[in-house]
Amino acid sequence: MAQSAGPPAVAFRGVVKQYGSVRAVDGIDLTIARGESVALLGPNGAGKSTTIGILLGLVPPDEGTVEVFGKRPEQAMRAGHLGAMLQEGKMIPRVTVRELVGFVRQTYRDPLPLAEVLDLAQLTGIAGQRVDRLSGGQAQRVRFALALAGNPDLVVLDEPTAALDVESRRELWAAMQRYAERGNTVLFSTHYLEEADTSADRVVVIAAGKVVADDTPARIKNMIEGRTVSFVPRGAQEGYELLPGVTGVQFHGGRVHLRTTESDRTVHALARADAFDDLEVSGVGLEEAFIALTHGARHRETANAEGQDR
Ligand code: ADP
Repeated sequence: MAQSAGPPAVAFRGVVKQYGSVRAVDGIDLTIARGESVALLGPNGAGKSTTIGILLGLVPPDEGTVEVFGKRPEQAMRAGHLGAMLQEGKMIPRVTVRELVGFVRQTYRDPLPLAEVLDLAQLTGIAGQRVDRLSGGQAQRVRFALALAGNPDLVVLDEPTAALDVESRRELWAAMQRYAERGNTVLFSTHYLEEADTSADRVVVIAAGKVVADDTPARIKNMIEGRTVSFVPRGAQEGYELLPGVTGVQFHGGRVHLRTTESDRTVHALARADAFDDLEVSGVGLEEAFIALTHGARHRETANAEGQDR
């Protein structure tokens, strides 16, 4: 649940990061309220890790500013506002889960009680096990516990479920949700729409270093999970954009391709108009949807640059 007191958890303004000719982050503006759970969703190479690196103060931006609870990232980190779970990180051998989490929590000024961290990360039952003998899912929950140990207000997770099986993912999300329910802010990156849908209350879609959509999981899912209805047109070839559900119209290969969020209604309307031959309905893949969203963002930019709203 978002709370409004004080500066927002995260504020990116005009942030740019360039690596050689690649603009990994290409002008990101993003505000995250306290208490929100936000997914950064995007394909590989979209700029998610770089964005997270900038947020944590690990990557200096070339342009723009970043504030975390009104402070520079390094200050927020030092003040104990920020906890991070990054993609890599080897476990120290021989120590138990309880010893490792206990050791790390002691390095913080105002840590969570050990039993609480273990409970939140669902580690109580395996607290006596050696960390170098855990399954991938258990090890990832230990990393999550380490990110929580200092009782941060904002926890940031970079693709936390990469390489985990379905059950381990489910357990990690359950742990994360329990942390979020305490009123903490959570930001995680993923390239799975399903995870963004079930575990976030807001989804920010990033492609080619830009925010191309920012909405509720249900609306993002609708945008991304749209379908394509294609057919050989008959009669007057206009007005397709007015059909129910249609979000895009293209003509190629002698066919009309309609992107739609409600394929059944689109097809019924086409049938009523008796306007097609050889109809096909196909799902849109995630990559294709990202490309469509990216192009949408470019079209909007061009339109705005020309002084038009649409
Ligand atoms: P994601 O996390 O969405 O997969 P990244 O932020 O890792 O995306 O990468 C965005 C782009 O920036 C990619 O094209 C990647 O190759 C490039 N990039 C990221 N980090 C570096 C770096 N340290 N040096 C050069 N290029 C980088």
